[in-house]
Amino acid sequence: MPRISLENVTKKFDEVVAINNMSLEIEDGEFFVILGPSGAGKTTFLKVIAGLEIPEIGNILFDGKIINDIDTANRDVALTFENYSLYPHFTVFNNIATPLKSPMKKKKYTAEQIKEKIETVTKMLNINHLLDRLPAELSGGQKQRVALGRALVKEPQVLLLDEPLAHVDAKIRNQLRTEFHFLKEKFRTTTIYTTHDYKEAISLGDRIMVLNEGKIEQIGVPEEIYNFPKNTWVAQRVGWPEINLFECTVDIDNSRLYSPAGDIYCNLSRSVLDNLKSYEKSDYMVGVRPQYLNIYEKPTSERTEKAICGWVEVLDNQLVCSAKVNHLELIATTHNLDFSIKDNQELWIGFNDKRLMFFDKETKNNISLKNSEG
Ligand code: ATP
Repeated sequence: MPRISLENVTKKFDEVVAINNMSLEIEDGEFFVILGPSGAGKTTFLKVIAGLEIPEIGNILFDGKIINDIDTANRDVALTFENYSLYPHFTVFNNIATPLKSPMKKKKYTAEQIKEKIETVTKMLNINHLLDRLPAELSGGQKQRVALGRALVKEPQVLLLDEPLAHVDAKIRNQLRTEFHFLKEKFRTTTIYTTHDYKEAISLGDRIMVLNEGKIEQIGVPEEIYNFPKNTWVAQRVGWPEINLFECTVDIDNSRLYSPAGDIYCNLSRSVLDNLKSYEKSDYMVGVRPQYLNIYEKPTSERTEKAICGWVEVLDNQLVCSAKVNHLELIATTHNLDFSIKDNQELWIGFNDKRLMFFDKETKNNISLKNSEG
Protein backbone atom coordinates (compact mmCIF):
# COMPACT_ATOMS: atom_id res chain seq x y z
CA MET A 1 0.00 0.00 0.00
CA PRO A 2 1.45 3.36 -0.90
CA ARG A 3 2.66 6.19 1.27
CA ILE A 4 0.91 9.33 0.02
CA SER A 5 2.65 12.69 0.04
CA LEU A 6 1.40 16.15 -0.86
CA GLU A 7 3.90 18.90 -1.61
CA ASN A 8 2.57 22.45 -1.52
CA VAL A 9 -0.70 21.48 -3.17
CA THR A 10 -3.22 24.20 -4.02
CA LYS A 11 -6.59 23.64 -5.68
CA LYS A 12 -8.81 26.61 -6.51
CA PHE A 13 -12.31 27.00 -7.91
CA ASP A 14 -12.23 30.58 -9.24
CA GLU A 15 -11.82 32.68 -6.11
CA VAL A 16 -12.36 29.79 -3.67
CA VAL A 17 -9.16 28.17 -2.44
CA ALA A 18 -10.42 24.68 -1.60
CA ILE A 19 -6.93 23.28 -0.82
CA ASN A 20 -4.47 25.88 0.34
CA ASN A 21 -0.75 25.09 -0.01
CA MET A 22 -0.92 21.73 1.73
CA SER A 23 2.07 19.57 2.52
CA LEU A 24 1.75 16.33 4.43
CA GLU A 25 2.50 12.62 4.43
CA ILE A 26 0.08 9.75 4.93
CA GLU A 27 1.80 6.55 5.94
CA ASP A 28 1.57 3.22 4.19
CA GLY A 29 -1.50 1.40 5.59
CA GLU A 30 -2.59 4.34 7.73
CA PHE A 31 -6.24 5.10 8.50
CA PHE A 32 -6.12 8.88 8.11
CA VAL A 33 -9.18 10.91 9.05
CA ILE A 34 -9.92 14.40 7.77
CA LEU A 35 -12.13 16.32 10.19
CA GLY A 36 -13.67 19.61 9.14
CA PRO A 37 -16.91 21.55 8.80
CA SER A 38 -18.88 21.89 5.58
CA GLY A 39 -16.82 23.62 2.90
CA ALA A 40 -13.48 22.86 4.60
CA GLY A 41 -12.18 21.09 1.47
CA LYS A 42 -12.57 17.44 2.52
CA THR A 43 -14.17 16.15 -0.69
CA THR A 44 -11.80 18.21 -2.84
CA PHE A 45 -8.87 16.66 -0.99
CA LEU A 46 -10.11 13.15 -1.82
CA LYS A 47 -10.79 14.09 -5.44
CA VAL A 48 -7.29 15.47 -5.78
CA ILE A 49 -5.84 12.17 -4.50
CA ALA A 50 -8.15 10.25 -6.84
CA GLY A 51 -7.19 12.38 -9.83
CA LEU A 52 -10.74 13.71 -10.29
CA GLU A 53 -9.55 17.26 -9.60
CA ILE A 54 -6.21 18.54 -10.80
CA PRO A 55 -4.39 20.99 -8.49
CA GLU A 56 -3.00 24.18 -10.03
CA ILE A 57 0.13 24.01 -7.89
CA GLY A 58 2.09 21.27 -6.15
CA ASN A 59 2.80 17.56 -6.39
CA ILE A 60 1.05 14.40 -5.28
CA LEU A 61 3.28 11.41 -4.74
CA PHE A 62 2.61 7.72 -4.15
CA ASP A 63 5.65 6.06 -2.58
CA GLY A 64 7.81 9.02 -3.55
CA LYS A 65 6.78 9.00 -7.22
CA ILE A 66 4.94 12.01 -8.63
CA ILE A 67 1.56 10.91 -9.97
CA ASN A 68 0.18 14.32 -11.06
CA ASP A 69 -0.17 13.16 -14.67
CA ILE A 70 -1.55 9.69 -13.97
CA ASP A 71 -5.28 9.51 -14.60
CA THR A 72 -7.86 8.19 -12.13
CA ALA A 73 -8.19 4.76 -13.74
CA ASN A 74 -4.49 4.12 -13.31
CA ARG A 75 -4.08 5.38 -9.75
CA ASP A 76 -5.54 2.22 -8.17
CA VAL A 77 -7.77 4.15 -5.79
CA ALA A 78 -11.41 3.59 -4.84
CA LEU A 79 -13.59 6.50 -3.78
CA THR A 80 -17.00 6.26 -2.12
CA PHE A 81 -19.15 9.36 -2.04
CA GLU A 82 -21.35 10.68 0.75
CA ASN A 83 -24.50 10.04 -1.34
CA TYR A 84 -23.42 6.43 -2.18
CA SER A 85 -23.65 7.02 -6.00
CA LEU A 86 -25.16 3.59 -6.71
CA TYR A 87 -26.58 2.75 -10.14
CA PRO A 88 -30.35 2.78 -9.50
CA HIS A 89 -31.22 0.15 -12.14
CA PHE A 90 -28.49 -2.31 -11.12
CA THR A 91 -28.97 -4.92 -8.42
CA VAL A 92 -26.65 -4.93 -5.42
CA PHE A 93 -24.65 -7.71 -7.10
CA ASN A 94 -24.21 -5.72 -10.31
CA ASN A 95 -23.43 -2.49 -8.47
CA ILE A 96 -20.59 -4.21 -6.63
CA ALA A 97 -19.44 -6.03 -9.75
CA THR A 98 -19.06 -2.84 -11.85
CA PRO A 99 -15.42 -2.08 -11.00
CA LEU A 100 -14.44 -5.69 -11.75
CA LYS A 101 -16.08 -5.54 -15.17
CA SER A 102 -14.72 -2.14 -16.10
CA PRO A 103 -13.02 -2.15 -19.52
CA MET A 104 -10.35 0.10 -17.94
CA LYS A 105 -9.42 -2.66 -15.50
CA LYS A 106 -6.16 -4.26 -16.57
CA LYS A 107 -6.88 -7.53 -14.83
CA LYS A 108 -9.83 -9.47 -16.31
CA TYR A 109 -11.96 -11.71 -14.11
CA THR A 110 -14.12 -14.68 -15.06
CA ALA A 111 -17.80 -14.71 -14.02
CA GLU A 112 -16.93 -17.33 -11.38
CA GLN A 113 -14.12 -15.19 -9.93
CA ILE A 114 -16.39 -12.15 -9.80
CA LYS A 115 -19.04 -14.17 -7.97
CA GLU A 116 -16.51 -15.42 -5.45
CA LYS A 117 -15.10 -11.97 -4.77
CA ILE A 118 -18.55 -10.49 -4.31
CA GLU A 119 -19.51 -13.30 -1.98
CA THR A 120 -16.46 -12.70 0.22
CA VAL A 121 -16.96 -8.95 0.45
CA THR A 122 -20.72 -9.02 0.92
CA LYS A 123 -20.48 -11.68 3.64
CA MET A 124 -18.02 -9.50 5.47
CA LEU A 125 -20.33 -6.49 5.17
CA ASN A 126 -23.38 -8.54 6.08
CA ILE A 127 -25.26 -7.77 2.85
CA ASN A 128 -24.94 -11.16 1.14
CA HIS A 129 -28.71 -11.67 1.52
CA LEU A 130 -29.44 -8.51 -0.48
CA LEU A 131 -27.65 -9.29 -3.73
CA ASP A 132 -30.81 -9.26 -5.90
CA ARG A 133 -32.24 -6.03 -4.53
CA LEU A 134 -32.21 -2.64 -6.23
CA PRO A 135 -30.80 0.39 -4.34
CA ALA A 136 -34.33 1.78 -3.88
CA GLU A 137 -35.14 -1.32 -1.83
CA LEU A 138 -32.31 -0.70 0.65
CA SER A 139 -31.99 1.32 3.86
CA GLY A 140 -29.36 4.08 4.15
CA GLY A 141 -27.02 1.80 6.12
CA GLN A 142 -27.38 -0.98 3.55
CA LYS A 143 -26.72 1.42 0.66
CA GLN A 144 -23.59 2.58 2.45
CA ARG A 145 -22.43 -1.03 2.83
CA VAL A 146 -23.03 -1.63 -0.91
CA ALA A 147 -20.97 1.45 -1.79
CA LEU A 148 -18.25 0.21 0.52
CA GLY A 149 -18.45 -3.27 -1.00
CA ARG A 150 -18.00 -1.77 -4.46
CA ALA A 151 -14.88 0.02 -3.24
CA LEU A 152 -13.41 -2.96 -1.39
CA VAL A 153 -14.00 -5.52 -4.14
CA LYS A 154 -11.48 -3.64 -6.29
CA GLU A 155 -8.83 -4.34 -3.64
CA PRO A 156 -7.50 -0.84 -4.20
CA GLN A 157 -4.15 0.42 -2.98
CA VAL A 158 -5.86 3.51 -1.60
CA LEU A 159 -9.36 3.71 -0.18
CA LEU A 160 -11.02 7.13 -0.10
CA LEU A 161 -14.21 7.35 1.97
CA ASP A 162 -16.16 10.60 1.82
CA GLU A 163 -18.35 11.01 4.93
CA PRO A 164 -19.51 7.38 4.79
CA LEU A 165 -21.66 7.67 7.89
CA ALA A 166 -23.18 11.10 7.26
CA HIS A 167 -26.62 9.90 6.22
CA VAL A 168 -27.29 6.91 8.41
CA ASP A 169 -29.16 7.07 11.70
CA ALA A 170 -27.38 6.99 15.06
CA LYS A 171 -27.84 3.27 15.71
CA ILE A 172 -26.54 2.19 12.29
CA ARG A 173 -23.75 4.74 12.57
CA ASN A 174 -22.47 3.12 15.77
CA GLN A 175 -22.76 -0.31 14.20
CA LEU A 176 -20.92 0.71 11.02
CA ARG A 177 -18.28 2.53 13.04
CA THR A 178 -17.51 -0.74 14.80
CA GLU A 179 -17.35 -2.50 11.44
CA PHE A 180 -14.88 0.07 10.16
CA HIS A 181 -12.57 -0.91 13.03
CA PHE A 182 -12.74 -4.48 11.81
CA LEU A 183 -12.18 -3.54 8.15
CA LYS A 184 -9.32 -1.27 9.09
CA GLU A 185 -7.49 -4.08 10.88
CA LYS A 186 -8.32 -6.65 8.19
CA PHE A 187 -7.30 -4.71 5.07
CA ARG A 188 -4.62 -2.30 6.21
CA THR A 189 -5.25 -0.38 2.98
CA THR A 190 -4.05 3.21 3.07
CA THR A 191 -7.38 4.88 3.82
CA ILE A 192 -8.45 8.51 3.88
CA TYR A 193 -11.79 9.01 5.59
CA THR A 194 -13.60 12.33 5.89
CA THR A 195 -16.09 13.37 8.52
CA HIS A 196 -17.44 16.43 10.31
CA ASP A 197 -18.05 14.34 13.45
CA TYR A 198 -15.19 14.53 15.94
CA LYS A 199 -16.30 11.33 17.72
CA GLU A 200 -15.95 9.38 14.49
CA ALA A 201 -12.54 10.93 13.91
CA ILE A 202 -11.30 10.17 17.41
CA SER A 203 -12.66 6.65 17.36
CA LEU A 204 -11.32 5.62 13.94
CA GLY A 205 -8.30 7.69 13.02
CA ASP A 206 -4.72 6.51 13.39
CA ARG A 207 -4.15 10.21 12.88
CA ILE A 208 -6.53 13.10 12.30
CA MET A 209 -6.08 16.15 10.11
CA VAL A 210 -8.26 19.07 11.18
CA LEU A 211 -9.14 21.17 8.15
CA ASN A 212 -10.51 24.71 8.00
CA GLU A 213 -11.19 26.55 4.73
CA GLY A 214 -8.63 24.49 2.83
CA LYS A 215 -5.90 24.91 5.45
CA ILE A 216 -4.46 22.38 7.87
CA GLU A 217 -5.15 23.50 11.42
CA GLN A 218 -3.52 20.46 13.03
CA ILE A 219 -2.42 16.90 12.30
CA GLY A 220 -2.02 14.48 15.19
CA VAL A 221 -3.07 11.27 16.87
CA PRO A 222 -6.54 11.48 18.49
CA GLU A 223 -5.16 12.07 22.02
CA GLU A 224 -3.09 15.01 20.79
CA ILE A 225 -6.00 16.60 18.99
CA TYR A 226 -8.25 16.23 22.04
CA ASN A 227 -5.83 17.06 24.84
CA PHE A 228 -3.46 19.42 23.05
CA PRO A 229 -5.51 21.27 20.43
CA LYS A 230 -3.22 23.60 18.56
CA ASN A 231 -5.54 26.57 18.91
CA THR A 232 -8.98 27.58 20.17
CA TRP A 233 -10.56 26.78 16.77
CA VAL A 234 -9.53 23.13 17.02
CA ALA A 235 -10.38 23.00 20.74
CA GLN A 236 -13.91 24.19 20.00
CA ARG A 237 -14.52 21.60 17.29
CA VAL A 238 -13.28 18.57 19.16
CA GLY A 239 -15.38 17.65 22.18
CA TRP A 240 -19.01 18.04 23.13
CA PRO A 241 -20.32 20.00 24.92
CA GLU A 242 -17.94 22.57 23.53
CA ILE A 243 -14.91 23.58 25.59
CA ASN A 244 -15.38 26.59 27.92
CA LEU A 245 -13.16 29.50 26.91
CA PHE A 246 -12.69 32.68 28.90
CA GLU A 247 -10.18 35.46 29.34
CA CYS A 248 -7.97 35.44 32.39
CA THR A 249 -4.97 37.10 33.96
CA VAL A 250 -2.27 35.06 35.61
CA ASP A 251 -0.67 36.41 38.76
CA ILE A 252 2.57 34.42 38.95
CA ASP A 253 3.64 35.93 42.31
CA ASN A 254 0.43 34.81 44.01
CA SER A 255 0.22 31.52 42.05
CA ARG A 256 -3.26 32.10 40.76
CA LEU A 257 -5.44 32.90 37.81
CA TYR A 258 -8.12 35.59 37.82
CA SER A 259 -11.17 35.73 35.55
CA PRO A 260 -12.55 39.30 35.34
CA ALA A 261 -15.90 38.10 33.93
CA GLY A 262 -16.41 35.60 36.73
CA ASP A 263 -14.59 37.67 39.34
CA ILE A 264 -13.05 34.39 40.48
CA TYR A 265 -9.62 33.12 41.36
CA CYS A 266 -8.17 29.69 40.77
CA ASN A 267 -4.95 28.51 42.42
CA LEU A 268 -2.25 27.26 40.08
CA SER A 269 0.27 24.61 40.96
CA ARG A 270 4.01 24.78 40.41
CA SER A 271 4.09 22.77 37.17
CA VAL A 272 1.40 24.95 35.56
CA LEU A 273 3.12 28.13 36.70
CA ASP A 274 6.49 26.97 35.34
CA ASN A 275 4.96 26.47 31.92
CA LEU A 276 3.32 29.92 32.01
CA LYS A 277 6.44 31.65 33.33
CA SER A 278 8.39 30.68 30.24
CA TYR A 279 5.71 32.35 28.13
CA GLU A 280 6.21 35.74 29.81
CA LYS A 281 2.70 37.06 29.34
CA SER A 282 -0.04 37.59 31.91
CA ASP A 283 -3.22 37.69 29.80
CA TYR A 284 -4.55 34.45 28.29
CA MET A 285 -7.59 32.68 26.97
CA VAL A 286 -8.11 29.73 29.22
CA GLY A 287 -9.97 26.61 28.12
CA VAL A 288 -11.56 23.93 30.24
CA ARG A 289 -13.58 21.03 28.94
CA PRO A 290 -17.00 20.60 30.60
CA GLN A 291 -15.95 17.08 31.71
CA TYR A 292 -13.10 18.53 33.76
CA LEU A 293 -15.11 21.07 35.74
CA ASN A 294 -16.17 19.61 39.08
CA ILE A 295 -19.70 20.46 40.15
CA TYR A 296 -21.12 20.00 43.63
CA GLU A 297 -24.46 20.52 45.33
CA LYS A 298 -22.74 21.87 48.46
CA PRO A 299 -19.43 23.55 49.24
CA THR A 300 -16.65 20.98 49.72
CA SER A 301 -13.15 20.90 51.17
CA GLU A 302 -11.89 21.56 47.61
CA ARG A 303 -11.66 25.23 46.72
CA THR A 304 -14.94 25.96 44.90
CA GLU A 305 -16.85 28.94 43.55
CA LYS A 306 -20.53 29.54 44.16
CA ALA A 307 -22.53 29.62 40.92
CA ILE A 308 -26.14 29.74 39.80
CA CYS A 309 -27.49 26.96 37.66
CA GLY A 310 -28.86 28.29 34.34
CA TRP A 311 -30.23 25.01 32.97
CA VAL A 312 -29.74 21.26 33.26
CA GLU A 313 -30.33 18.55 30.67
CA VAL A 314 -29.53 14.87 30.23
CA LEU A 315 -27.41 14.12 27.19
CA ASP A 316 -25.69 10.84 26.27
CA ASN A 317 -26.00 9.35 29.75
CA GLN A 318 -24.64 12.41 31.51
CA LEU A 319 -25.98 15.59 33.03
CA VAL A 320 -25.04 18.81 31.30
CA CYS A 321 -25.54 22.02 33.21
CA SER A 322 -24.79 25.68 32.80
CA ALA A 323 -23.24 27.39 35.84
CA LYS A 324 -23.20 31.17 35.98
CA VAL A 325 -20.55 32.84 38.08
CA ASN A 326 -21.20 36.58 37.81
CA HIS A 327 -20.86 37.32 34.07
CA LEU A 328 -19.12 34.05 33.25
CA GLU A 329 -21.22 31.14 32.02
CA LEU A 330 -19.54 27.75 32.19
CA ILE A 331 -20.85 24.42 30.94
CA ALA A 332 -20.14 21.40 33.11
CA THR A 333 -21.05 17.73 32.87
CA THR A 334 -21.33 14.97 35.43
CA HIS A 335 -22.05 11.26 35.26
CA ASN A 336 -23.73 11.56 38.66
CA LEU A 337 -27.34 11.36 37.46
CA ASP A 338 -28.52 11.88 41.06
CA PHE A 339 -27.25 15.46 40.91
CA SER A 340 -30.42 17.25 41.90
CA ILE A 341 -29.69 20.94 41.29
CA LYS A 342 -32.32 22.62 39.11
CA ASP A 343 -32.58 25.94 37.25
CA ASN A 344 -31.78 29.03 39.34
CA GLN A 345 -30.50 27.04 42.33
CA GLU A 346 -27.01 27.42 43.79
CA LEU A 347 -24.22 24.99 42.99
CA TRP A 348 -20.46 24.95 43.49
CA ILE A 349 -17.79 24.49 40.87
CA GLY A 350 -14.17 23.50 41.24
CA PHE A 351 -11.30 23.78 38.75
CA ASN A 352 -8.54 21.23 38.33
CA ASP A 353 -5.67 23.43 37.22
CA LYS A 354 -3.90 20.50 35.49
CA ARG A 355 -6.85 20.31 33.09
CA LEU A 356 -6.75 23.98 32.08
CA MET A 357 -5.49 24.83 28.61
CA PHE A 358 -3.85 28.19 28.06
CA PHE A 359 -4.07 29.97 24.74
CA ASP A 360 -2.38 33.17 23.60
CA LYS A 361 -5.00 35.90 23.84
CA GLU A 362 -4.11 37.38 20.44
CA THR A 363 -3.07 34.44 18.24
CA LYS A 364 -5.40 31.93 20.00
CA ASN A 365 -2.60 29.35 19.79
CA ASN A 366 -2.11 26.83 22.57
CA ILE A 367 0.93 28.05 24.45
CA SER A 368 1.86 24.66 25.85
CA LEU A 369 2.63 23.39 22.36
CA LYS A 370 5.96 24.01 20.78
CA ASN A 371 5.81 25.63 17.34
CA SER A 372 2.24 26.73 17.94
CA GLU A 373 2.86 30.18 16.55
CA GLY A 374 2.44 29.05 12.95
P1 ATP B 1 -19.02 19.19 2.80
O1 ATP B 1 -18.73 18.66 4.18
O2 ATP B 1 -20.15 20.17 2.78
O3 ATP B 1 -19.11 18.11 1.77
P2 ATP B 1 -16.24 19.72 2.09
O4 ATP B 1 -15.38 19.93 3.29
O5 ATP B 1 -16.19 18.38 1.45
O6 ATP B 1 -17.73 20.13 2.42
P3 ATP B 1 -15.58 20.71 -0.53
O7 ATP B 1 -16.75 20.08 -1.19
O8 ATP B 1 -14.26 20.13 -0.79
O9 ATP B 1 -15.80 20.84 1.06
O10 ATP B 1 -15.56 22.25 -0.95
C1 ATP B 1 -14.53 23.13 -0.56
C2 ATP B 1 -14.83 24.49 -1.17
O11 ATP B 1 -14.68 24.41 -2.59
C3 ATP B 1 -16.25 24.98 -0.93
O12 ATP B 1 -16.22 26.37 -0.73
C4 ATP B 1 -16.98 24.61 -2.19
O13 ATP B 1 -18.06 25.49 -2.44
C5 ATP B 1 -15.90 24.76 -3.25
N1 ATP B 1 -16.09 23.83 -4.38
C6 ATP B 1 -15.99 22.50 -4.33
N2 ATP B 1 -16.19 21.95 -5.56
C7 ATP B 1 -16.43 22.99 -6.41
C8 ATP B 1 -16.70 23.08 -7.81
N3 ATP B 1 -16.73 22.01 -8.60
N4 ATP B 1 -16.89 24.33 -8.31
C9 ATP B 1 -16.81 25.43 -7.52
N5 ATP B 1 -16.55 25.40 -6.20
C10 ATP B 1 -16.36 24.21 -5.65
